[in-house]
Amino acid sequence: MKTDLQLDKQQFESLLAGIWLGSADVLALVKQLGSSAASKDGFTHLLLSALANRSGAIDTAESHIYKAFTADPGLLKKLLPPESPNHGAALATEYPMTQFDTCPVCRSGERHSVFAGLVVAHLCYHEALAPLLHWVECQGCSHVYAREQNASDALFGGPPRATTHSTDISMERYNNDCESVAHLTEMRRGGRVLEIGPGNGTRLAAFRDMGMVTLGLEIQEEIAAHCQRLGLNVRLEDFLKHSPDAPYDVIALGDVIEHLPDLHGSLEKIRDMAAPDGLLWMSTPQYDNFILQEARTRGADPYLVELEHWHYFTRASLIRLMEEYGFQLIRQRMGKTFIASVEYTFQRS
Ligand SMILES: [Zn+2]
Repeated sequence: MKTDLQLDKQQFESLLAGIWLGSADVLALVKQLGSSAASKDGFTHLLLSALANRSGAIDTAESHIYKAFTADPGLLKKLLPPESPNHGAALATEYPMTQFDTCPVCRSGERHSVFAGLVVAHLCYHEALAPLLHWVECQGCSHVYAREQNASDALFGGPPRATTHSTDISMERYNNDCESVAHLTEMRRGGRVLEIGPGNGTRLAAFRDMGMVTLGLEIQEEIAAHCQRLGLNVRLEDFLKHSPDAPYDVIALGDVIEHLPDLHGSLEKIRDMAAPDGLLWMSTPQYDNFILQEARTRGADPYLVELEHWHYFTRASLIRLMEEYGFQLIRQRMGKTFIASVEYTFQRS
């Protein structure tokens, strides 16, 4: 009897979506899971976790995810193909997690759960990481954040692929980035730009090619090396430890802020590095954006299973945080790189 489904990544994700939607199709897959009662128990718990999420019983959903792995520590081996880095992943009893007891934006302790997301299918998942993220929404400022998150050294300490994000470059990405930042280059012609976390480097290249004086700071060695190979002025350096020669006219964070554990410490540093009328450009997924609200009704919000995100800003929680550091919103538009990642321009006043 065949005991392993060995689904590929796309099939596995479809399966999870099917479970989430309570699809009857998954019942056929349950039958293929083999004769082991443990497998069926594990799979049933995943099914129950999905249904609990759908009905808003998030603590129950979380408990079923843990029970799924306890019932069958080899559950993923049965679901994922051998070439998957998570094929052999099993649940540990404890993980080094960073807890948020209060909102990382407004510090209110009032909150309610919104989702328990199984994150083992994520590209950067590895066995030293907890298998789920438990998202909560702050009652004080509407910010959505992970109640506890894998500690940074665990997130960055896994297999090499866990620390390598996309370094794909294309004309399309470059053109999109030129469009995104053109207004900044017009407002501060020839000015000094700092990009925190330049990633594939196309945005920093756009700034440079439009006449700005650029520097990128990157904490991942492979990505810094990639940018340097493209001829970009990028250093392997933590922005929190950076000492600028002079204030920056523009500071850019492209899909970076949702990865920062300490928002207030980071914004304080950014404010201190910015010119008195400096511009702060950022993109980040917006939780209350209509596209993502609609996606959640279909069980298809990718950011709830985005393993490395600590935050999921609403428009209000982002503006509140920025205003605390003297940055006023002056421009907003939808980006083109990631689904419903919104681009915001703030000006220091
Ligand atoms: Zn809050």
